[in-house]
Amino acid sequence: MLFLSIIWCTILGLAPMEELRSSIEWHWEDEFSAAEKGKVEDWLNSVTGAVESTLGVYPFTMHYYIHRRNGSSEPVPWANTRRHYVQGVDFHIDPSFSLQAFLDDWTAPHEISHLSIPYLGREQSWFAEGYASFMQYQIMQELGICSEQELGEIYAEKIERVRPYYDRDQDFVAVSRELKSRNRYSVMYWGGASYFMQIDTRLKEEHGMDLTDFITKYQLCCRLKDESFEELIESWDRLLGEPLFSELLQNYQRGPASEVLNAASITN
Ligand SMILES: [Zn+2]
Repeated sequence: MLFLSIIWCTILGLAPMEELRSSIEWHWEDEFSAAEKGKVEDWLNSVTGAVESTLGVYPFTMHYYIHRRNGSSEPVPWANTRRHYVQGVDFHIDPSFSLQAFLDDWTAPHEISHLSIPYLGREQSWFAEGYASFMQYQIMQELGICSEQELGEIYAEKIERVRPYYDRDQDFVAVSRELKSRNRYSVMYWGGASYFMQIDTRLKEEHGMDLTDFITKYQLCCRLKDESFEELIESWDRLLGEPLFSELLQNYQRGPASEVLNAASITN
């Protein structure tokens, strides 16, 4: 019975729940067979559908560039966003992996979630990567890859793992930039995600919505207006009607990193 229900969930998970509303332009950068293209389209249409349900329909065409990377140890060994001229993602993939292996991979939810906010510049990568790291699991929950309880456990585990790196008197942003300069990318990503965990908790407690609901509203009103980090934060404060985003940001820019990462509201 359990076996059957797992199969059923998997089949449900792969079937598009509703018509995809986002506009996607496909760019096949290498040779792919019809079967391989079908698998890649099923995978990215499913992920994009979950992104739509989680963060809203993006008000622009997304460009997906598909590159072949045979003989890899994982389905998507590399991916990066394109943020100038077009809004898109380059996916370097090994098409020999199964569709389920692609759906279980966090890379596409992470990269596509980056596109829901403007490009913020290299200096703000702690913020942009923290955002995408937080959002990738929200999207994977929508895809049925993890449950809400597992999501909470994953966030708590990630924060516990990075906390020792931020046990410093320097401000959080300075510590993040130093971690990046030492190539401690995963630590920097999950440290940055703590900002969005705290925002999510505050939005639930004080406004009866979660961060993904808020970002869905942002797509409709303001996504195409903002062009910088400052404009984004101003826009979020204005949309919420109070300076929650800028005030928490000040803690990250000025307060000791150790205190920021010890905030009780991170993973409760
Ligand atoms: Zn990223």
